[in-house]
Amino acid sequence: MTSDIQRIVVIGGGQAGGYACKALRSEGFQGQLMVVADEPHDFYERPPLSKGVITAQEPLPRLFPADSLAALDIDWHRPQRATRIDRDARQVELNDGTRLNYDRLLIATGSRPRLPVEEWAGIGNVMTLRSWDDACQLKERLEGSRRVGVIGGGWIGLEVASSARKLGMEVDVFERAPALCGRSVGPEVAEAIRELHQQHGVGLELERQDIQLDEAQDGRVTILADGQAHEPYDLIVVGTGVTINLELAREAGLKTEQGIVIDAAGQTSDPYIFAAGDVAQHPHLGLCLQSWAYAQNQARVVADAMLGKEAHYDEPAWLWSDQHGVNIQILGVPSGETHCVVRKEAQGPVFFYLDQDNRLVQMVAFDQPRAIKLGKRWMSAGRTLDPQSLEDPDFNLMQLR
Ligand SMILES: Cc1cc2nc3c(=O)[nH]c(=O)nc-3n(C[C@H](O)[C@H](O)[C@H](O)COP(=O)(O)OP(=O)(O)OC[C@H]3O[C@@H](n4cnc5c(N)ncnc54)[C@H](O)[C@@H]3O)c2cc1C
Repeated sequence: MTSDIQRIVVIGGGQAGGYACKALRSEGFQGQLMVVADEPHDFYERPPLSKGVITAQEPLPRLFPADSLAALDIDWHRPQRATRIDRDARQVELNDGTRLNYDRLLIATGSRPRLPVEEWAGIGNVMTLRSWDDACQLKERLEGSRRVGVIGGGWIGLEVASSARKLGMEVDVFERAPALCGRSVGPEVAEAIRELHQQHGVGLELERQDIQLDEAQDGRVTILADGQAHEPYDLIVVGTGVTINLELAREAGLKTEQGIVIDAAGQTSDPYIFAAGDVAQHPHLGLCLQSWAYAQNQARVVADAMLGKEAHYDEPAWLWSDQHGVNIQILGVPSGETHCVVRKEAQGPVFFYLDQDNRLVQMVAFDQPRAIKLGKRWMSAGRTLDPQSLEDPDFNLMQLR
């Protein structure tokens, strides 16, 4: 480790920030570690917020137990916001005027929900879900609800729909596109997800281009979808994508595209500044992944790099979702021309998207985590696969280890 690194500032107390701090200490960093966090809570992870926190009253999903967290010896600045990065002075300015000096800076500011219509923010029974506080509020509001409308048929919207159904509510999902999760999976997977939701009684309104909301005096909200009014909902949850929290980086003049542009070590266009998690554009894929695994594992790599060690992030994209008791795992992102091979097993289907040389580009498995583990190896090795074997449920995939 280079001795010029005595002070590290991390902006963002989420998953990437948390794992970076843990890795910095376990890699031997003994200097001052400062975290600026605008949420009042200890580091926590978000996936349970749309699942068990709503349905099973799970507690704050802390990343680390209290003693491990204390051992990280963090100087917290929370709840406070970083408002400016002064790259010349190597300082971060906070909303109360405090200035923190850094030798290395990590930006891990994540993303925030985006509303398609700004005015919806002013409607009492319209919600988005990002934070622990949002989840607590959602849980409370669901208790008093009978009908829930979900706007956006992506992962978060569909998980909320699944959780609300589990709690016995009537649920309708409104989606602009003709397919669910259409930006991250192929049509075959989208169709399987649609069937899953239909089997569990979720009303699906696809290809609804023009959505308008009308708040009644009793607080219930009518959705007008392409001019057609639906019976009022007690609660509307909007999951129509996110805005990446890029403002600090942009104003500091760092190179940004969809996210902050980084190399495989997480370094930005300023050698003293690094980025991790949702805000950090994937170094090879050129997009912001918004995945738990990326936030955790890429942040660990970046921590090494911040301490001057050789470090490269090269894992394939991986994320999961739990809907109606089914665990859906997605490996890789759609890209280029592919053909789909479907393997129908008793536990659930597996979808392989192969390129013209029969190499795996993306794989989606329903309740088949072991198949995904194999897929990770095939993908990393760039292995050529035989579509007929993949398709045959009697062929043991373990033979392709
Ligand atoms: C409800 C929900 C369910 C999810 N489920 C899954 C799942 O099942 N599988 C999966 O793979 N992924 C899932 N994800 C995605 C995953 O949780 C995110 O990719 C991950 O949290 C990103 O971590 P991060 O640290 O980059 O950002 P975050 O966890 O969002 O942390 C960023 C933190 O920085 C704070 N911040 C922002 N700006 C400032 C500032 N200027 N000053 C101080 N603090 C600031 C933010 O408030 C936030 O606390 C889910 C996300 C949500 C919201």
